[in-house]
Amino acid sequence: MKTYDNQNIFAKILRGEIPCDKVFESEFTLAFKDINPAKKVHIVVIPKGSYVDVNHFTEKATDKEIVDFFKSLNLISNQVGVADSGYRAITNLGKDGGQEVPHFHMHILGGEHVTLDIS
Ligand code: AMP
Repeated sequence: MKTYDNQNIFAKILRGEIPCDKVFESEFTLAFKDINPAKKVHIVVIPKGSYVDVNHFTEKATDKEIVDFFKSLNLISNQVGVADSGYRAITNLGKDGGQEVPHFHMHILGGEHVTLDIS
């Protein structure tokens, strides 16, 4: 059973307590520019619901939330202009996965070549 920390930074963004550079919003999904971009295009995509990581999300979220999230990835990648040139969509999970913010998110990385770093 995963406990969601509602003081994490993305929860604060969702509550409007801190700002974000929003690029997309749907009923169940929000996307904004990463504050510390690793590539020319670096977007963080999050569900609006309180899910710790991708496993928690796929276990507990409704089908509507899950469909909305993955359709949003498609829409966002087109909106920010990386759908044709290509991009990497990744998520980090837990300690060994290097997850820093305990609210499920996917990174969209592109706008330039993304090398494969599996360190
Ligand atoms: P992860 O290591 O997968 O948990 O990634 C967390 C990401 O959130 C990092 O790429 C951070 O740069 C990004 N980040 C942290 N705080 C903010 C913020 N206030 N607005 C936008 N991105 C953020």
